[in-house]
Amino acid sequence: MPEFRNTFSGNPLDREAARRRDESWVTEQLDNPAAVFLPLRDLTFPMRSEGGGMRLAWSRLPEDADVERYPPLLLGTSDGVARFAIDAAAAPDRFALPDDASFMDLRAAAPVLDADDAGIAAQARAFLDWHQRHRFCAVCGDPTRHVQGGIFRKCTTCPAEHFPRTDPVVITVVIDPERDCCLLGRQASWPPGMFSALAGFIDHGESIEDAVRREVAEESGIHAVNVRYHSSQPWPFPSSLMIGCHADAGSSEINYDEWEMDDVRWFSRSEIEHSLRQPAAQLGQPGLPEGALSLPGPMAIAHTLITAWANGSV
Ligand SMILES: [Zn+2]
Repeated sequence: MPEFRNTFSGNPLDREAARRRDESWVTEQLDNPAAVFLPLRDLTFPMRSEGGGMRLAWSRLPEDADVERYPPLLLGTSDGVARFAIDAAAAPDRFALPDDASFMDLRAAAPVLDADDAGIAAQARAFLDWHQRHRFCAVCGDPTRHVQGGIFRKCTTCPAEHFPRTDPVVITVVIDPERDCCLLGRQASWPPGMFSALAGFIDHGESIEDAVRREVAEESGIHAVNVRYHSSQPWPFPSSLMIGCHADAGSSEINYDEWEMDDVRWFSRSEIEHSLRQPAAQLGQPGLPEGALSLPGPMAIAHTLITAWANGSV
């Protein structure tokens, strides 16, 4: 099976796991005038237009930046140049950005953001958000400090070390091969007509397959069998990993949890194909004709999973 590159995957940076263990090397990178910085303002990113799409806008570190209060996070290196993310509050309005750069929400910009930059931004967003929310030790309550360019935090009092976490989510398209249809659901908060793959967090003590079977049963009443992995997607809102799967239906009668789901239905191949033929810009957007099926746009792994089935590749 070919490897799919979902949006936010394929970050090209070398995360420098070995060299960053040496704190003096990290300090050298910080002091190197060639190092570049990505200032995030309330977790939005400086971006500029380029060639019909968007690119991240990097900056030098202002001399008077408050790096004690807002320590730069080492994302990694590319072509020998260290790249850091930093809270823009370290030097408000003093990062030298191109005149045409503006701060943009990552989720909104992702469909037009360069693929490599989207991967870097996913790392930066999840990384900075985690550090901002873990300034105190979960064991003793005292302050923590970041080490090795931010790869983890250490308590300033007790021996506890705290590592940035990623929360795994299973997302599944269940297929009924005999009736040639697939199972999708919707939540009440979504735009009318929008349906997507069933998804949920993996619980403690569950395998991916266990979680798929449980989530599908909880959200649809369908018995999922023959679970198989397709591809995955970092989802930095705030720090998930979407694990995309297909499964076969071992039953056909839908019985969904109305507290969790607004609707769950079987869709025929022709209904899915018809919806996928809509322009990409319209997919997942409100304003479609009454009764029209709206599917997630191409930046979502759900789109990859649904399209793979519609194309007959799974
Ligand atoms: Zn502690």
